[in-house]
Amino acid sequence: MSTPTGISLKRQPLIVQKYGGATLADPEKIKQVAQRICSLHTSGAKVVVIVSAMGKTTNQLIDLAKQVSPRPLLREMDMLLSVGERMSMSLLSMALNDLGCTAISFTGSQAGILTDDSHVNANILEVKAFRVEEALEQDKVVILAGFQGVSPKTKEITTLGRGGSDISAVAIADYLKADRCEILKDVDSVYTADPKLVLNARSIPQMNYRHLLEMTQWGAKVLHQRSVDLAAQKQVILFVGAANTDTSNDTESTGTLITHEFAFERKHLLAINSYQRVFEIQLDTFSLVDFQKYLQFHQVGQIQILHQQNSTVWITAPEETLSSLQDFMSSGSHPARITQSELSSVSTTFTQSVTDSDLHETAAILKGAAIPVIQSTVSDLSLHFIVPAEKRSQAIQALHSLI
Ligand code: ASP
Ligand code: MG
Repeated sequence: MSTPTGISLKRQPLIVQKYGGATLADPEKIKQVAQRICSLHTSGAKVVVIVSAMGKTTNQLIDLAKQVSPRPLLREMDMLLSVGERMSMSLLSMALNDLGCTAISFTGSQAGILTDDSHVNANILEVKAFRVEEALEQDKVVILAGFQGVSPKTKEITTLGRGGSDISAVAIADYLKADRCEILKDVDSVYTADPKLVLNARSIPQMNYRHLLEMTQWGAKVLHQRSVDLAAQKQVILFVGAANTDTSNDTESTGTLITHEFAFERKHLLAINSYQRVFEIQLDTFSLVDFQKYLQFHQVGQIQILHQQNSTVWITAPEETLSSLQDFMSSGSHPARITQSELSSVSTTFTQSVTDSDLHETAAILKGAAIPVIQSTVSDLSLHFIVPAEKRSQAIQALHSLI
């Protein structure tokens, strides 16, 4: 809408941008990111930026903790891990202010990211980002530390689990009713398969939350699974794109837009995803719920259940959790045991709901490539196969030939 004098009454767009750790890995990269944010702000947008820890900082902090204590208290782990994002946020804010772009950084607790009281894997309960709104009113760029919050119950600093800054970004975008939430990375979009594993993997320009949810549930690392869940629930428009836009490579994709409305016109295979490490566990006398409680009680960490059949379950977890699970289960006797640890999962996600003929076609490809299927399961848009770990890469390549 315009006034007779031509002055636009349209509200200023509000963009939430999340920068991944790789895009902030060194001072030069931080300054480049600052340039990009500054031009967005100068173009008239209100900008809130969520940062991850620089490069491999979080891994280094975990490593440091292990050198001091074999089983550190989780409360102290959160005190330590939250430092990583605090470094990025303050450095980025310094770089922006030097460019003449007024910026202010906040920790999760300063920004009112309120979580439950569990350490290392907390859930956001509520956002009360009053200071963020106030700073936006003053036309400042706001930089927030991702991956962290505070529990109003215990008053303790918490972290949201590995990769959790995506969740921070979506939560703040929802709270501020942002026009969109951009997840900016060193990878420039969502791909049909991991480009490191499949050389001819292609970028996917657009999809629905439903597709990305199934992809992240079955191993796509492009976004944190819980962040996609939250975006779908709250209908936060997501965009995955490259942090660095000034490359001269003209084959570069223009990113992936993820919305509620988008529907593919035609049924076809969209993407292949995979978990490299899957364990098969015999529960024996345990129920699945008791087994999960047992692991939690012994501080082994959270596992992700992929499939259950009677008393056999197939699970995956972050690398650290899998190794501590292996150590734990091999020491002493437990009412459950790992029966196979050299497994992987490979999943095919389709543009529309799967049918029997998709299953036949996919199974025939795996059979043709002499890949034994240990277990297969179906979800709305996807088929999932548990295969021997040594056949993983071959299975991914074979299935990708259908795309
Ligand atoms: N820095 C944290 C991690 O590496 C959180 C994040 O990157 O989202 O897991
Ligand atoms: Mg990180």
